[in-house]
Amino acid sequence: MINIVLFGKPGAGKGTQAEFLKQKYNLVHISTGDVFRFNLKNDTLLGKQAKEYMDRGDLVPDELTIKMLQDEIEKNTEATGFLFDGFPRTIAQAEALDEFLASKNWDVTATIALEADDEILIKRLLERGKTSGRVDDQDESKIRNRYEEYNHKTAPLIDYYTSKNLFYSVNGIGTIEEITRRLSLIIDDFIDK
Ligand code: ADP
Repeated sequence: MINIVLFGKPGAGKGTQAEFLKQKYNLVHISTGDVFRFNLKNDTLLGKQAKEYMDRGDLVPDELTIKMLQDEIEKNTEATGFLFDGFPRTIAQAEALDEFLASKNWDVTATIALEADDEILIKRLLERGKTSGRVDDQDESKIRNRYEEYNHKTAPLIDYYTSKNLFYSVNGIGTIEEITRRLSLIIDDFIDK
């Protein structure tokens, strides 16, 4: 069982890399952003509850997010590993993930961050917003709010995982293939063990 947390600011390329990594390592990819957007589109109760936060670029409250994540894991208990993309984003979420994985005798194998400069990322998101249809990518003030949320609530996870010796980071600037290679070098090390 290998469980990888892909970490990084909005626009860092987590989703793009996840598409390659999930195939290469046969992992179940759970993107909390994608699951929320699916619920929004289908107007489910969870979608209704998450909408106002997502529209503002705020994090959805932990309670809702953690419950949703646990449900996604439960749907895939036969998996040989998970790739978490966009989760955890708060210390409470990280603690809940540890606890939940431990209840199944699993754990987080590694957290890998994709690093890139804020101004480059903001430009990328505005570009993505032109075609993705994502309202949160079309307005610079919403994007900046997501960075505020990241700095306040998500950045503390770097220390959380560093203190457990689980934190790795790679340069997120380069071609998609180059970055996949950088991530693979780290993951391969865990597979050989
Ligand atoms: P990005 O990484 O580009 O900000 P995501 O698709 O990961 O985009 O997330 C979109 C939105 O979904 C976030 O701004 C937030 O409102 C909500 N969201 C996703 N993951 C989480 C999470 N782990 N905790 C709280 N809210 C989340």
